[in-house]
Amino acid sequence: MDELHWQSLAVRSGITRSPEGEHSEALFMTSSYVFDSAEHAAARFTGDDPGNVYSRYTNPTVRGFEDRLAALEGAEACVATASGMSAILSTCMALLKAGDHVVCSRDVFGTTRTLFAKYMANFGVEVSFVPLLPVDGWREAMQDNTKLLYLETPSNPLCEIADMQSMATLAQSAGALLVVDNCFCSPALQQPLAFGADIVIHSATKYLDGQGRCVGGAVLGNQDLMDQVLGFLRSCGPTMSAFNAWVFLKGLETLSLRMEAHSASAMQLATWLQSHPQVEAVFYAGLESHPGHALAKKQQSAFGGVLSFRVRGAQAEAWQVIDATRLMSLTANLGDAKTTVVHPATTTHSRISANERLEAGITDNLIRVAVGLENIEDLKADLARGLNSLG
Ligand SMILES: *Cc1c(COP(=O)(O)O)cnc(C)c1O
Repeated sequence: MDELHWQSLAVRSGITRSPEGEHSEALFMTSSYVFDSAEHAAARFTGDDPGNVYSRYTNPTVRGFEDRLAALEGAEACVATASGMSAILSTCMALLKAGDHVVCSRDVFGTTRTLFAKYMANFGVEVSFVPLLPVDGWREAMQDNTKLLYLETPSNPLCEIADMQSMATLAQSAGALLVVDNCFCSPALQQPLAFGADIVIHSATKYLDGQGRCVGGAVLGNQDLMDQVLGFLRSCGPTMSAFNAWVFLKGLETLSLRMEAHSASAMQLATWLQSHPQVEAVFYAGLESHPGHALAKKQQSAFGGVLSFRVRGAQAEAWQVIDATRLMSLTANLGDAKTTVVHPATTTHSRISANERLEAGITDNLIRVAVGLENIEDLKADLARGLNSLG
């Protein structure tokens, strides 16, 4: 298996065939497992026999998804979780304790910010938020008790790119762990562990599923770290359901084809938007004008499906463009075959102060599009309807 190329691993790894000889991955819908004898049960419970006990601990379908995703991220081990948020929570609960300090990018998923700012803080974990760029800001925020650096690259919604190698060097120098949420790129486009990250986080809900059906997540890293995360899951319970793992296994088979298509369409849409007279600025790392373009080229094999742009005007004009769409779905989700459009300032980023929004570049005239798999001409026409009405 190790010698196979990435696309082959996406289809072939993580399969354990049952005695029925099924070709597609089997869906093991069972909460518990039976033992041959009392002695056998005892051995399972002590761990001397490594087999299944209970599906909060292990499930063959979930393990298939974990093994396949681990192969695709180049990770020693993977722990599947009930959602992307529980992947982050499990990582924190397993690896942090009261009195520890975390430095987190300001430009992360809104709920991730709440998890750190409210819930981790409630349990005595100190958190500092810094802009994703530059690295110096992170260095200045670090303390003697800093245990974890947390970021997303590309960032949402402005597609800023972090230099993962520099961040890994910084983390290492302080004995801290670098955690990268790889949701936007998926392992088809970027493998953070290869750039020195210690842990990769996924919301499987997004591109790993790819069709907006199931909620799930994953944590990846070396065996020792993942044993600690698995320990938390076993005792505290946010495990992935077997059914969702089965859906994600199917999603992984087509991941590279979909990410190529998302990226190609996003590139075309970004280029077209850049030339539109009613568009003030476009944020997409695939554009040569983007400050993170060279770094994105080094770290990613393509630029992904998410872009944002500023229309000429303010909130009213942005809303006009969004409300004129008929094809795109007005929803904050992303990573779907269906293109989604959202106004970050009044939705995904509405809970942070107006000042913080401005600092982060989330202006009132900004629109985010997560490009799906529809025909690109239909997507252009959908945005052109509103944009042309602004002039
Ligand atoms: C959606 C998302 C999450 C949270 O994942 P859920 O599966 O919704 O819990 C975390 N990080 C990023 C970047 C996301 O887009």
